[in-house]
This record gives sequence, structure tokens and C-alpha cells, in this order.
Amino acid sequence: MKTIGLLGGMSWESTIEYYRVINETVKEKMGGLHSAKCILYSVDFAEIEKLQHENRWDQAARLLVQASRSLEIAGADCLVLCTNTMHKLAPEIQQQLSIPLLHIADPTAQKVRSAGLRKVALLGTRFTMEEDFYRGRLERPHGLEVLIPSEADRQIVHRVIYDELCMGIIAAASARHYAQIIGRLIDAGAEGVILGCTEIGLLVKQADYGLPLFDTTRIHAEAAVDFALEEE
Ligand code: GLU
Repeated sequence: MKTIGLLGGMSWESTIEYYRVINETVKEKMGGLHSAKCILYSVDFAEIEKLQHENRWDQAARLLVQASRSLEIAGADCLVLCTNTMHKLAPEIQQQLSIPLLHIADPTAQKVRSAGLRKVALLGTRFTMEEDFYRGRLERPHGLEVLIPSEADRQIVHRVIYDELCMGIIAAASARHYAQIIGRLIDAGAEGVILGCTEIGLLVKQADYGLPLFDTTRIHAEAAVDFALEEE
């Protein structure tokens, strides 16, 4: 089994989910007392969030490159960046590593395609919903058509992520707001919804929806296990 390097803490509320899903999946696949070999580097999210909102991505890249290199030196065989948003810096990080960065958008797009869908809604931070680094990765290599919420709805989705979910607050009112936003995306033609922020799965549950939800935390964690258990 290979060793999974987790770069987490963005936020730690979702990193816990990664750790749980990775270990549950290894147990499911290997049985007995098997559990995942992994190394976690967890950052202080307050520092990262400040750099994001001050548009200081160079500094954020330096921080994440240094953390990723520590994981590689410690023996990680791959890098799992436990956040969609910071994949904005995936090319800079990959460039400084000799282990592969397992990009969150690739297994997500593959899941959408293997469910037979093409037109999907994307929920996440403003960075993820609005910029090309994420949508482009879903659209161009994988051929998906990506719908995003209106400006007003994007503001709500973004605010709930930073002010509530990353602080461990799961509010029924926000679950209702998200349901209304998803309803509008369905009316616009969405066949499925990508939960493109690693905390959204804490708020939005498949059981409440009639169309498929693609939880990037679970999909990314399972892809990491596939990598770890793949034959050399
Ligand atoms: N975990 C979130 C994501 O998947 C948001 C926090 C962050 O900005 O990294 O995008």
C-alpha cells in the first residue's frame, strides 16, 4: 500500500471527513484491521483565508508548496490537497514536487460522466465557481457543461462556506437556502450537482434530493485510496 499525503486544515472540519472516508474505504476493500497509510499536514486556515481574500495567492502558493514538500520528504507517495479552492495553485505546487498531486476535479468529472450526465451545477467558493482553474478543468478535458448560481446566490453559497461550515456551524436555514439555490439550478437544466467545496457535504445530503449530488470530499478521498492500492 502506498502512503497518502494529505494537505489539510482548509478547513479541518472537512479534513476529518477525508481521514474517515480514506480509512473506511481501505477497510472496505482490504478487510480486517487494515487502515490507510497516510501523513497529514494541517495548516492554520486563518492564514490561508486571509491570503485568499487579500488576493495574495503568491504567498499562499509559497506556504502550500513548503507544506507539500514536507509531506514528500516525510514519505508521502502522492499529494491530496483537501480543498477545491486551493487547486487554483495546483500547477505551482505540482511543479515543485516529484510525487503526483491527485487533482480533485478529475475523479469528480469522471464520476459525473460515468453516471451518464454532462450538464452539472457547481457549488463552491466564489473562486471555485467563478474562475477558470476549476470549471475549465471540468469543461475542457472532461467535456462537462457547468452551470453556476446567479451572482446573488453565489454570494450566499460563499458566505455560508466561510462564516458557517468552516467554523463547524451547520444551520437549518442555510440548508434551506442551498436547497432553493439548487432548485433554481435544476430549473436551468442541471442534471446533477457538484458539491465543489469540501465542507458542503456537511450541510447538503443526497437523501434530500432527487438528482445525483457529487460530493468532492468523498470522491477525492476514494480516488486517493485507489491510488494507494493500485498495483505498482
Ligand atoms: N474547503 C473549501 C473548498 O473545498 C473552502 C475552503 C478553502 O478556501 O480552501 O474549496
